[in-house]
Amino acid sequence: MSLRWTRALLKISGEVLGGKEGPLDKGAFSFYAGEIARAREAGAKLSVVVGGGNVARGAALPFLPQTAGHTVGMLGTILNGVVLREFLLRAGVPGLLMSALPVPGVAEPVDPWRAKDALEAGSVVIFAAGTGDPYVTTDTAAVIRALSVDAQVVLKASKVPGIYDDDPLINPNAKLLPRLSHEEYLRRGLLVLDQAAVAIAKDHGLPIVVFQAEREGAVLTALLGETGSLIGGEG
Ligand code: UDP
Repeated sequence: MSLRWTRALLKISGEVLGGKEGPLDKGAFSFYAGEIARAREAGAKLSVVVGGGNVARGAALPFLPQTAGHTVGMLGTILNGVVLREFLLRAGVPGLLMSALPVPGVAEPVDPWRAKDALEAGSVVIFAAGTGDPYVTTDTAAVIRALSVDAQVVLKASKVPGIYDDDPLINPNAKLLPRLSHEEYLRRGLLVLDQAAVAIAKDHGLPIVVFQAEREGAVLTALLGETGSLIGGEG
C-alpha cells in the first residue's frame, strides 16, 4: 500500500464527536481512535487538531462578550483532546496532548519541536485549544499546526463526501468538486473550511482534503489520495 501522504494532520470537528446522548459521544471517539490507529499502522505520522463545536462555539454564546465566548469554545476543544487521548491509549496508540492554552498537569504547551520528536517516535500528537486566540477557528489552527510539524496535507473529516458548489444539505442539486485550487475555493466563498485557513494554506502550498469520515477506513483511504475533495495538491 503506497500512501500519497505519510505526514498528515487530521482535523476532527466537534460536530462529528458529539452525539444524541450528549456532547461527548463514546462511539465517535472510539471510531476515530480506531481510524487513527489503522492509519498509523500503515505508516502514517499523524497529528490531530480537535474542534469543539460539540461543546461550545463562541458565535453561539451571544450572551457573552466575544472574547469570553471564544475562550469557552477553545476550552471545549481541550475536553475533546483529553477524551481522544484516552481512546487512543485504549487502542494501543501513544497520544501526546498539547494545548495552546496552558492546562498544567493535563496537556503540554504547544511545542512544534517536541511534537515532531514525538511523531518520529511513533506517537500521535493531539493539538487542542485551537490557536489559543479568539476570533478564529480550529480550521485555522489545523493549517498552522500542520505547517509547524511539516505535515504534507490537512485531512478534514466531514459528514459529507467532500466540497460542493453549494450546501448539499440544503440544495439537492449541489455538485461535488473533486479538485479545486486554493484560489478557486477562496473565489467561490466556500465555507466548509474557514476562508482564513485556506488563505494561509494557499500561501504555503499546503493541500487540504475534505472527506467523508464516517465509513471505516476512510482516513486511510484519504491518505492514499483516493477520496474526497482535494484543494491544491497540484504537482
Ligand atoms: N476557537 C477560538 N480560537 C481558535 C479555535 C477555536 O476562539 O483558535 C473557538 C471558537 O469560538 C470556535 C470554538 O472555539 O467556534 C470551537 O472551535 P471550532 O468552531 O473550530 O470547532 P469545530 O467547528 O471544528 O467543531
